[in-house]
Amino acid sequence: MLETPSVEKEIVKSKDTELSIFNALEHMGHEQVVVCSNPDTGLKAIIAIHNTTLGPALGGTRMWVYNTEQEALRDVLRLSRGMTYKAAISGLNLGGGKAVIIGDPHTDKNEALFRSFGRFVDSLGGRYITAEDVGMTVQDMEWIYSETKFVTGIPETLGGSGNPSPVTAFGVYMGVKAAAQKAYGSDSLVGKRIALQGAGNVASYFAEHAAKEGAKLFISDIYADKARQLAKKVGATFVEADQIYGLDVDIFAPCALGGVVNDDTMDLFKCDIIAGGANNILDAEDRHGQLLMDRGIIYAPDYVINAGGVINISSELEGYNRKQALNQTEKIYDTTLSVLNYSEENGIPTHKASNELAEQRIAKVGKLKSMYTSTSKISGRLGEMYRLDNR
Ligand code: NAD
Repeated sequence: MLETPSVEKEIVKSKDTELSIFNALEHMGHEQVVVCSNPDTGLKAIIAIHNTTLGPALGGTRMWVYNTEQEALRDVLRLSRGMTYKAAISGLNLGGGKAVIIGDPHTDKNEALFRSFGRFVDSLGGRYITAEDVGMTVQDMEWIYSETKFVTGIPETLGGSGNPSPVTAFGVYMGVKAAAQKAYGSDSLVGKRIALQGAGNVASYFAEHAAKEGAKLFISDIYADKARQLAKKVGATFVEADQIYGLDVDIFAPCALGGVVNDDTMDLFKCDIIAGGANNILDAEDRHGQLLMDRGIIYAPDYVINAGGVINISSELEGYNRKQALNQTEKIYDTTLSVLNYSEENGIPTHKASNELAEQRIAKVGKLKSMYTSTSKISGRLGEMYRLDNR
């Protein structure tokens, strides 16, 4: 049984109380949590498989200095659950999973550590498929890959899909256009004023798409030089990092970090649309989602429009095909519009609309599997009988 993300947030955020593993798993709907330890290599990792109704659990591995084991557990539970929703709303036949390696990515890395982690991933027999996330490099992924085939997002030289950011950015661009369609009755970005927060990977590719179409961009980054450089490249205006929220624009596109729609920024926004590539844009999901709706600002849910990256790596599972990955990413336009329409029809904030639509797909597809087909696996003596009959 899936619980809404707000319940999840309450559980993972309740830092004053000890996190009971079974309580958390039950409330958040997780299937399995695997604790991986190898003192010889220094590996301390947790793999969380949230829901595999739609298919194997796909999600990246994050290496991070967690202050406590509880903090690591909270993070992996929250992130893996988010992947279930992202895969489901994107129409992928994948479930949600995630892994965290507890350690300092600057000092604690070694070949044996990643290979031992790879062996744990392998031991799950494909129930969990990993990928690159914060704190990981291509080299780390190659070490994992040397121990298990259940890895995606591997370099192009190894037959993988390489850097996902251009595809993520294309999906964000599609999502922004769909939100414009909803707000203005036209998805054209010609002359639209867009405040772009961040000048990193996703932001840069997004800026190129939007500028090429004729949008008027305002770009900021905590590294001002980076923002200046990107602004110069795409013919945009540079903005100081703390000025980006209050700009009088049509669209605010957060492509840097999460939690940017919060109590401090809420009243600053002068835009019709908030849509960007960053994860976890709403700080307190339910409250800030509702406040945006009350203010008449259309919010395109983050995991709906930044799913291009996961769509891209999922394509590796059937033999990577860039064109197919981009075609599927283009559908983010239709998915975003469905979410925004569902939100309007049901009078609920858009983040709730996307959660509900994702849950509906999981429930409906899950029910399909209750019907026996000749390829269904039946174990025991009955299974033997079927196999004998069908020889
Ligand atoms: P990145 O590290 O390349 O870029 C992030 C940029 O944000 C950096 O330039 C950084 O200096 C800037 N930044 C950080 N804090 C800032 C602040 N307060 N104000 C302005 N700028 C700030 O990362 P990325 O890969 O482009 O990812 C950007 C966001 O998109 C992240 O939230 C990430 O989780 C999300 N995302 C990325 C992908 C992908 O394929 N790369 C996929 C899904 C989601």
